[in-house]
Amino acid sequence: MADAITVEGLRKDYGGFEAVKGIDLSIREGEIFAFLGPNGAGKTTTIEILEGFRTATSGQVRVLGVDPAHPPLAWREKIGIVLQQSQVEKELTPREAVTMFAAYYQGPRLVDEVIELVGLADKANDRIGKLSGGQQRRLDLALALIGDPKLIFLDEPTTGFDPSARRESWEMIDNLRSIGCTVMLTTHYMDEAQQLSDRIAVIADGRIVARGTAAELGQQVQARPTISWRGATVPTLSDRVAVRADEGHVRVETTEDDLVGVVREITDWATDHDDSLHGFEITRPDLEQTYLRLIEAGFASPDEVAS
Ligand code: ATP
Repeated sequence: MADAITVEGLRKDYGGFEAVKGIDLSIREGEIFAFLGPNGAGKTTTIEILEGFRTATSGQVRVLGVDPAHPPLAWREKIGIVLQQSQVEKELTPREAVTMFAAYYQGPRLVDEVIELVGLADKANDRIGKLSGGQQRRLDLALALIGDPKLIFLDEPTTGFDPSARRESWEMIDNLRSIGCTVMLTTHYMDEAQQLSDRIAVIADGRIVARGTAAELGQQVQARPTISWRGATVPTLSDRVAVRADEGHVRVETTEDDLVGVVREITDWATDHDDSLHGFEITRPDLEQTYLRLIEAGFASPDEVAS
């Protein structure tokens, strides 16, 4: 599949302060790509260069085949941008606002289809001022989608949402796959990145410190599954695993490859010792733990990460 975005050796210098220090990225057509990093890491700088709102100090950038620093008019129409806060006239209805935006484009999508896609059909004729925060974000997405963009930039799409509104938004973002849109998403919520994205890049201090699927990132920090249960008796297991017992819990750390064999060892031991393995569970490190380890490690050795 072709790339929607390619970035090679991108640098951005703000009067002697290098905010982006030579990054490479490639985002495939049709994928949902999460761009993660702590505050001040260089996400906004990078994304605004991709959107054509800031200029790079050096490096090559191609967004839908075009250098965003010198965009032809037709290119703008293929890009949808959803900011954290948008200003739409509150007296309009969602249908009126979407219809008004449709008139700015050469080949807009159908108004009702877009309203349906973002899940606003039953609020289409209400005043925008009366919509909830979550519904207003849906409208923001509708306004970005009406021009039939090939690529959408979503900036922290669910910040401040309650858990059910976040899940509904995830569904809506996931729906963008059905219309073949490429999505570049920034978020500080790791569960959101894990749930939605095909691939992830993590930026820290202006450098990409990791990239890949959530599972690949986990492998990169050697995140291992842990088997645990409640009990005080430390089992005798083969020396391929590390066993710890503290605060009434036994924890066995192993590798994905060894997992089944180690579970078998533990259950054999439990049968022999009449231990019920109360609360037995296997947990894999989630993206949040992986991310925190990547950020810590990233500041030390950005060059060692996989590309
Ligand atoms: P956040 O998650 O907080 O939005 P970010 O990853 O988007 O952070 P950027 O906004 O790209 O980070 O900022 C990267 C660095 O560049 C920060 O240290 C910031 O202070 C600095 N910076 C950003 N814009 C400018 C500017 N116009 N002039 C000088 N420095 C800037």
